[in-house]
This record gives sequence, C-alpha cells and structure tokens, in this order.
Amino acid sequence: MRLSEITVPDQPWTRRSFSPEFNRGRQWLTEEFKSVGLNVSTDTAGNLIGRLNGSAKKNLPIMIGSHSDTVPFGGRFDGILGVLSGLEAIQTLKENGALPAHDIELVDFLAEEPSEFGLSCIGSKAMAGKLESEQLDLTDGNGRKLGDAIRSVGGDPELLHQASRGANSIVAYLEIHIEQATRLESAGLSIGVVTDIAAIRRENIRVVGRADHAGATPMGLRKDALVTAAYLISATEELTEAANASVAAIVATIGKLSVSPNAANAVPGEVEFTLEVRSGDDAKLKAHTDGLLKRYRDIAQSREQAVHVQQVSCGTSTKSAAKVMRAIETASQNEGLQTMQLSSGAGHDAVYVSHLGPAGMIFVPCRDGRSHTPEEWVDEVGCARGAQVLLGALLELDKE
Ligand SMILES: [Zn+2]
Repeated sequence: MRLSEITVPDQPWTRRSFSPEFNRGRQWLTEEFKSVGLNVSTDTAGNLIGRLNGSAKKNLPIMIGSHSDTVPFGGRFDGILGVLSGLEAIQTLKENGALPAHDIELVDFLAEEPSEFGLSCIGSKAMAGKLESEQLDLTDGNGRKLGDAIRSVGGDPELLHQASRGANSIVAYLEIHIEQATRLESAGLSIGVVTDIAAIRRENIRVVGRADHAGATPMGLRKDALVTAAYLISATEELTEAANASVAAIVATIGKLSVSPNAANAVPGEVEFTLEVRSGDDAKLKAHTDGLLKRYRDIAQSREQAVHVQQVSCGTSTKSAAKVMRAIETASQNEGLQTMQLSSGAGHDAVYVSHLGPAGMIFVPCRDGRSHTPEEWVDEVGCARGAQVLLGALLELDKE
C-alpha cells in the first residue's frame, strides 16, 4: 500500500515509468532493499537490483523480480506484488538466520508496461540482450529519447551491453504476479503454476472498398469497406470461439480500427484494423491465424472488395521450466495448498528473463479477475500465501 500510494495524486494508481512518481517509488524501494541488508545497484539498462550474498561461493544467482511501474489508472498489485513478495521472502530468510547457498538477486525491471516510448519490458529485454541500440532513439511525446530516459533512472545507454546476461547465467527465475483472470478464483484456489506465456501474433488488415456519396449512392451499388470489416470481425469471434471448444486456449482481438474517409455522409472506402491473436500453443496460433486470414479473403472476395494483410509481429510462446514449476508445486504442497496449472495470456518480464535460465511464475487470484484498473485487489491472505510459496520455491531451487 505504501508503494502504491506513490502515485499521480488525482490519478490513482499511476506510477508511469520514468515519471517523478516512478523515481520516488524507486527511492522508497532502495531504502527498503537496504533495510534488509541488500546491496543495491542500478544496472546500465536501469533495472534496480538488490543482491543478497549467499552462504556458499556458488557461481550463479537465483533471481526474483517483477516491476514497479503501472499503466495509467492502474492497480496496486500488478508488478508491485512480485517485487515486494521477493523482498518479504528475503527478509524472512534473514530474520531466521537461514542464508541461502546461492546469491539472490531481487530485480525491479524497468518499464514492464508499455511506456511513453511505445516499448514494454525495456529492462528485461535489455537483460536478455534484446534491446536494440536503434530503440534507444525512440522518443516520447515530449521528444525525449529513450536512451536519455534510461540515463535519468541511473542507467547508462552507452554501456547497455553490460546489463545483458548470457544464457545459463541464473539458477532460476521466479516471479509472482496476479492472475488478471478468474480461473483461480472460480476454482477456489490460492496458487497458480504458470505453464507458459502466450505468443502474440499481430496482423495489419486493410479492407479496400470504394468511397462514395452517402446520399446519392444506392445500396446495391456500394462497396462499403466498413460493412465488410464488420463481417470479418464477427467471423473472427465466431471462428475463435469454435476453436476454443477443442484444445488449448486461443484468443483473438480487434481492438484498433480506422475508417476512411470517416465522415457521416461518406460510404467508407477503406478500413484498417489490427488483428491480434494469442495462444500458448505456437502451432495452433499459426493454423488458427492463417485460417482467419483465409476466411477474410473469402468474405472480401464475395463482396467484391480487396483485403491486404501485413504481418506486424509474430512471437513464440514461452514455456515455464519444469524444475521451477516443480519447485512451486512442492512448496505449495508443503503449505497444504492445492495448485492449478494455467497458461498466461498476458506478457510478463519472465518472457525475457527465460533467456537467462530456467524461469517460472506463480499466479495468485485477484478479485473478479480485475486488473489494470483501480479496483484491482488481492486480500492479505492471498498475498501471504503467494509470498510463502515464493519463499518455499526459492529454498527448493537453492538445494541444487
Ligand atoms: Zn505486471
């Protein structure tokens, strides 16, 4: 609650990356990290890192983390819960004189949410060596460059490569996060074991009809691109709902659309929209999206219009590491907590950290599945159970 209250005052709960509130949040976190005896530093990519030295001289650290930035008018748990549960777990270890063998790194990854620079997961991307130097020239609405923004939070864009860690550079990564859906809540369970994080494919779709006068053109002679787009959109829902009746979850969304000429008295001549499809199953993602695009072409052709498709991006799903899932399940069993395996439709820093070594995530239920909204809520028992399982999983992974 104390961290969430560091917000833009009239926009609770808003702590955008690179904002004054974000910097104050980081100052608060730095003090908290230090108060449990962590060595605090900021890497060249602007990730805030608290390090606890392990009792044995082991080579690789165990990493725990999440993010402290929020979306505008976001909640008090998305991201924060992961960072502070990690802190709680470390504090508990110290209070009990139970120093782990491995070093523990607690990370507040920079700018997980889509930032003013149009980029998300900036810190974890950089840690995986996947933040390109051209991206440092991306600008926000005020013309500030991302590189300068990273410098303003204590990073050094010229030495970005120093923040990048290779493959096999960690024992494991653990992240606890709110589920942002209702599967755990509906099942009455406290702990979700994430099996994978869905891949995202985005296609830019342009429907080309013909713009005409809305009063003078008879209905039978129109080539209305918006009506065609409406058929494509309803086909997307119909086909995707049917696809879910069988195997792995798949979702498709058309959330952005632009109409031209976009005037009350003009028949729409052109419509552009973005199709976004997500699934934890890469083969299914491909087959389903290809099927949708074929249907789009068939519909457009039957209406004597053209549809142009351009791929914007196509990722692959991130599988959780079996040993991390096992550690979470064992820790839950030890606490007498039943678990559920589930796939994450939302992206997380774990996607990038998985390039460093075995990664996994713990989900806890949030009330009514609400997230990215001020109503986001997890009760104290839910938070405590999550943190307890995080600690248990950490100790399991420390055994190797
Ligand atoms: Zn998050």
